[in-house]
Amino acid sequence: MKPLLSRLFAAMALLATSQFMMAGEPVPSKGYALFSKDGDFQPYAFERHAVGEHDVLIDIYYAGICHSDIHHVHEDWGPSHYPQVPGHEIVGRVSQVGEGVTKFKVGDFAGVGCMVNACGECEYCEKGMEQFCQKGTVFTYGAKDHYHGDVITQGGYSNNIVVSEDFAITVPENAPIEKVAPLFCAGITTYSPLKATNVGPGDSVAVAGFGGLGHMAVKYAIDMGADVTVFDITEDKRQDALDMGAVKYVNVRNPEELKGLKDSFRVIISTIPANYDPSMYLNMLEMGGELVIVGIPANEERPSIDIGSLVFMSQRKVSGSLIGGIPETQEMLDYSVAQNLYPDVEVISVDQIDEAYRKVLEGDVKFRYVIDMRTME
Ligand code: NDP
Ligand code: ZN
Repeated sequence: MKPLLSRLFAAMALLATSQFMMAGEPVPSKGYALFSKDGDFQPYAFERHAVGEHDVLIDIYYAGICHSDIHHVHEDWGPSHYPQVPGHEIVGRVSQVGEGVTKFKVGDFAGVGCMVNACGECEYCEKGMEQFCQKGTVFTYGAKDHYHGDVITQGGYSNNIVVSEDFAITVPENAPIEKVAPLFCAGITTYSPLKATNVGPGDSVAVAGFGGLGHMAVKYAIDMGADVTVFDITEDKRQDALDMGAVKYVNVRNPEELKGLKDSFRVIISTIPANYDPSMYLNMLEMGGELVIVGIPANEERPSIDIGSLVFMSQRKVSGSLIGGIPETQEMLDYSVAQNLYPDVEVISVDQIDEAYRKVLEGDVKFRYVIDMRTME
């Protein structure tokens, strides 16, 4: 008996030690990074912080390519840190959980969007608006992680990620997983302002910029019962907009099509990532209407609004909207699954990322590239 018991205790001690070791060790990760704003993507090995008590380790299956990734690594918005692994539209399976984790178990699908941590205690975190954390949101890539020694966060073009369970979104097993990743940025960024402006049946809504974000805005607004008009700069997407159920498609490069649209819309969502004239859209709002800006053009291309047009277009509002908080992101995911609303995606392998970036900039994507991260060696 005694030798058996002592063997049992020895085995338990070993198990406890190895769990402690695993829990305390940084997690090796490999991904695709840019080493300068002008370079091409290269394989990059790095470490993620250890899986803490309330963290989950997720093996990444798919990562979407958001135009924000391109803005960021090309330094459109100011200096970036390199090497930089972008990617904030992430989905995969949980492969390890900290001892205090209650929301996930190993094997569950989980998603990660633009944030990986926040204080959880400030006024905005308490309201579920962690993107405005007063102690500083930790964004998924390119941000100082002040909860982990100020290391610069690395994103989802990689094989795994460690994240606080509070910032991981529950994804049901029956979801078409390759289409789920873009919901964590393109989905929430368009769902949130449509909810905030109470879009519903019979509303007249316009979506300017019919790309990754824009086509999700169109799908959500139509599902919410609105009549949706789409504005873009190409003929190539006219039929797609009509097939999705838009009532009208306007190619803004054809001035004839812009006639007669004054006072037409209660809500306009602008996802445009380049220079344009916001006053043109302001003039299309009905009284009481709202132009919500989500697109963030490069610093040197960023338009401004003529305050005169704000005065003469009295009672129309202009606002901005930044992604959405974690509770609303879960709500958006549940809604998308329930209503079968997913992005149109083109799945690519890791060796196609550079080409995909070029194509997004040329407007040659319908509508979101999603990288299959398991194509990485
Ligand atoms: P995409 O490149 O997928 O889509 C942009 C679309 O806008 C394309 O269809 C493009 O046309 C179209 N477009 C370009 N110029 C004009 C114009 N002058 N008028 C009308 N349409 C135009 O980008 P994403 O959807 O991924 O991102 C859009 C923007 O949103 C980016 O600036 C991104 O950084 C920002 N963003 C903001 C977030 C937030 O929280 N507020 C979150 C995520 C992204 P074409 O394809 O023909 O070039
Ligand atoms: Zn994004």
